Amino acid sequence: MGKVIGIDLGTTNSLVAWMTPSGPQIVPDEEGRGLLPSCVAFDEAGKPVVGSVARQGKAAPAERTFFSIKRFMGRGLTDFTGELQYLPYPVAGDSRSVRFPVGSRSYTPVQLSAMILATLKRRAERFLGEFILNEVVITVPAYFNDAQRQATKDAGEMAGLDVLRIINEPTAAALAYGLDQKKEGTIAVYDLGGGTFDVSILRLEGGLFQVLATAGDNQLGGDNIDDLLTALFLAEIKQHHGLDLSDDRMWIGRLRRLAEEAKKDLSTQEMVRLQVDLPEGKLWDRYVTRNDFEQLIAPLVERTLGPCAQALKDAGLSAQAMDEVVLVGGSTRIPLVKARVAQLFGRTPHDELNPDEVVALGAAVQADVLAGGTKDVLLLDVTPLSLGIETLGGVMSRLIDRNNPIPCQARETFTTAVDGQTGIEVHVLQGEREIAQDNRSLARFTLTGFPPMPAGLPKVEITFLIDANGILRVTARELRSEVEARVEVRPSYGLGEDAIEQMLEDAYAHGEDDLIRRQLIEARVEAERRFPKAEELLAEMVAVVPAAALEPMQAALESLRGVCAEQDYKAINTAIEVLEESARPLVELRVNQATQSALGNASIDELLQKVEQARRQV
Ligand code: ADP
Ligand code: MG
Repeated sequence: MGKVIGIDLGTTNSLVAWMTPSGPQIVPDEEGRGLLPSCVAFDEAGKPVVGSVARQGKAAPAERTFFSIKRFMGRGLTDFTGELQYLPYPVAGDSRSVRFPVGSRSYTPVQLSAMILATLKRRAERFLGEFILNEVVITVPAYFNDAQRQATKDAGEMAGLDVLRIINEPTAAALAYGLDQKKEGTIAVYDLGGGTFDVSILRLEGGLFQVLATAGDNQLGGDNIDDLLTALFLAEIKQHHGLDLSDDRMWIGRLRRLAEEAKKDLSTQEMVRLQVDLPEGKLWDRYVTRNDFEQLIAPLVERTLGPCAQALKDAGLSAQAMDEVVLVGGSTRIPLVKARVAQLFGRTPHDELNPDEVVALGAAVQADVLAGGTKDVLLLDVTPLSLGIETLGGVMSRLIDRNNPIPCQARETFTTAVDGQTGIEVHVLQGEREIAQDNRSLARFTLTGFPPMPAGLPKVEITFLIDANGILRVTARELRSEVEARVEVRPSYGLGEDAIEQMLEDAYAHGEDDLIRRQLIEARVEAERRFPKAEELLAEMVAVVPAAALEPMQAALESLRGVCAEQDYKAINTAIEVLEESARPLVELRVNQATQSALGNASIDELLQKVEQARRQV
């Protein structure tokens, strides 16, 4: 039987695994190594070199040696701020994409990731021979958004792989862990790798792996620690030796490797000594203690606690309710990280599974499930972020809430706001904020060509479908005319908007504000709808009743106009009610009048129609 392989395409390291009769196993390279450094360098001839030779800086100079490529998947250059300053290689692009220049050419993150995937594919082919199918399960951080998932799938296809499924890394880790330990109960998976942080809460029960909630930060990991240390080193060298190396790619590359080295050593040692021969015959000699290091990184570690609290809250569980806490990712080897996680959950986390391998092993389990091998395992994952569309007044109308089990589908009907409208623009959004522009814009498309109808009559049905990969498809259909538009939400890979984690943080920080802003917008839209109708009623009744009878309604209308210009949605809603009240006697009069005038010279149908017409409320 053919094998489907599982791949962990990591920020730092990538692995490929497959299922053997005795459980999932990592596929080694010719030298017996499992980890493939996720690094691509371009040699003199422009030929790509993938893996450890590239990683060690031996294949090419620093400006043609690319690592942490995953940080750029599905994002635009303007999504990044200061953090790119200490990268030894150049990065180009715009708000929608990132490119890595190499001489006269340039590569996208998807292309470089495809090179890494193709290397793993060849490794599996050599090891498994004829057994390998080209089918694969690839893992992504749970907190990857739609664009980042699409980019990963594209990279797989570019490498000649048939991507059967994209699964979430912490879920994969739980799969490997659960099968290994035959555990039942509720577990938290805390995954801090090179570039991303994810936390998932899962329930394991009789082969069912159900994700209850997930949260994270897709720009937080060991890379940020390396950035901090590199910046510190550069500043110190400048201060003590008057050497500004911050524009020297070779030096940034060297200091960065030194930083990572020191960081790793500090996981087991209390102190490291740095000794570097600087240019101009100068010597930089310094000790870094674990205490110094912990002070430097404490804010980064604290940033992981917010998503933990949020995932627990979304799952409706307390930290103490976890039966087990599983650590995944190389950065969880840092003692401070372990300590903070232990403190948060009130228990010692599980770290005996190899944090480097567990994700790939889980991917192999899921691959085997899809190939029909492993049978008694079912995975139910969730979508990390809410999805919706922009509606009147620029608010986000949510169709699918975050942490909804996938695959799933949601459908809602919308209508037009203007008479004779023959098209409707659909703006697809992802995020937790109330106001559309605060969320990530995934796509915009227009459904056009339906016949003109009065406002409110067309029925535009919008369907969101999230497949098992967490990838979204949107369809819009006008039901009366059957006009349809379908979009696979092809990513606008990064629109230069807020990072996802920022969006969530903001949603929490601004929860109250957002709601008020939304209510204000809605109240104003409501008021706007009343103005023309009220004007119309007043105009019709001028000739019918004495001026004094119109005064209460005129006053109510004025007062509504006044409060609309202010910020108090409650006052607007109250003023709308007052206007409705004041209009009621006039509407009744209009009804009577219509009845009178129609009596005698109209059919009963005409009469009813006239009365119906007159009865319309303000
Ligand atoms: P990814 O899944 O993003 O590829 P990994 O889980 O392989 O990441 O973790 C890689 C990160 O872990 C890197 O930032 C690396 O420097 C860091 N790391 C690896 N070993 C250690 C260690 N002993 N102490 C601290 N950090 C480590
Ligand atoms: Mg990882």
